[in-house]
Amino acid sequence: MRMIDLINKKKLGEALSKDEISFMIDGFLSGEIPDYQMSALLMAIVWKGMNKEETAELTLKMAHSGDVSKLDAKGIKVDKHSTGGVGDKTTLIISPIVAALGVCVAKMSGRGLGHTGGTIDKLESIPGFKTSLRSDEFASIINTVGLCIAGATGNIAPADKKLYALRDVTGTVDSLPLIAASIMSKKIAAPSDVVLLDVKTGKGAFMQTLEDSVNLAQAMVDIGESVGKKTTALITNMDIPLGNNIGNALEIEESVAVLKGRGPADLTAVCKLLAAHMLHLADKGSVEECMKQVEEVINNGAALKKFSEMVEAQGGKLNADTLAELAKPSIIHEVISTKSGFISGMDALKVGIASSILGAGREKEDSQIDMSAGIILHKKYGDFVKEGEVLAVFHTNYRSKIAEAGAIFKEAISFDELSPPEAKLVYAFVSKDGVEYL
Ligand code: URA
Repeated sequence: MRMIDLINKKKLGEALSKDEISFMIDGFLSGEIPDYQMSALLMAIVWKGMNKEETAELTLKMAHSGDVSKLDAKGIKVDKHSTGGVGDKTTLIISPIVAALGVCVAKMSGRGLGHTGGTIDKLESIPGFKTSLRSDEFASIINTVGLCIAGATGNIAPADKKLYALRDVTGTVDSLPLIAASIMSKKIAAPSDVVLLDVKTGKGAFMQTLEDSVNLAQAMVDIGESVGKKTTALITNMDIPLGNNIGNALEIEESVAVLKGRGPADLTAVCKLLAAHMLHLADKGSVEECMKQVEEVINNGAALKKFSEMVEAQGGKLNADTLAELAKPSIIHEVISTKSGFISGMDALKVGIASSILGAGREKEDSQIDMSAGIILHKKYGDFVKEGEVLAVFHTNYRSKIAEAGAIFKEAISFDELSPPEAKLVYAFVSKDGVEYL
């Protein structure tokens, strides 16, 4: 078999066989297939796509390229995956809610790249918090606390890790089969029985249209179900940032606020729904019954207590009452509105880029991030703003970055004289039985 023949085959839009997919992944991992040939094949996949069978074969091949984690823990283990966005701190909130209700959450999360944040970076803004754990440490925390969030070990789906790094620098990330295979290979290799997918749609997401997002969700649900993991998906809004805080320490602060029942309405509503769906997947009752249980553990403090138990078990130091241990920036800069009107647009991608410029994001895999940096939104989509009012507050340690971040932030905001239509938070629910538009 020769890689050049596979490239030509895909260039013509033909399907690759199971053996050809195995050949390309084995050869790429061993180094026999060079990056330039793999890049050419990836670009052909971006243009010509992959059918269902090819996507499933690629997923399984990548899932089994390393360890397939078996966790020695009691009960159903649920996992949740978000396709990524701006201000998306849902994992930090829903995991303790679900664990407080007796369902194990064994979560392997990633770091942020570009304009999107990553759960592992956010957790590392808590002093001492260990995200790199041996598998026995991970299992022991799951068995005592019922909840552990750690970085994926190096040997979980290594083929995806190598491929993703190449896709990231060759403009080949935005392909439905490649995204579906990448995400689901890690879900299959991770230690969970059921999976809830939060597929983001809109300007700050990989998939910008509802149709593409639903198609991605369906592809991932099919793959999960085909390997015996009950999998469902919610399609949620990423046209505008989720919640008011963007940036690592700022997102920990806002997550704790939601767990105390004092978070912003949009973030709280999305988290409650995601948590209820995770519990439903774990056989805790109907979604409506699960929603009541979610509200109960927020109101009685059990979810916040579970969050603190996880922080302590993973070595973190954080007083949930004062949050005094979180890093603070040296510069706090108010962004003043130069216009009056209703905010009719708040481009999540541009807000994410502005936050990244302030120091919260990583441009390259080895860039250092500033845990204290980010943005607090004082006004959001639909709010009326008067000229001279504060739109947002920038947190940074670099005065030189404020003008560049400010220019992109202002481009992100559009105004109108009329109040815009209400933003939908959740668009659809996808399961093996089909799509339900909400
Ligand atoms: N997240 C992943 O893990 N992989 C992708 O390809 C895109 C988002």
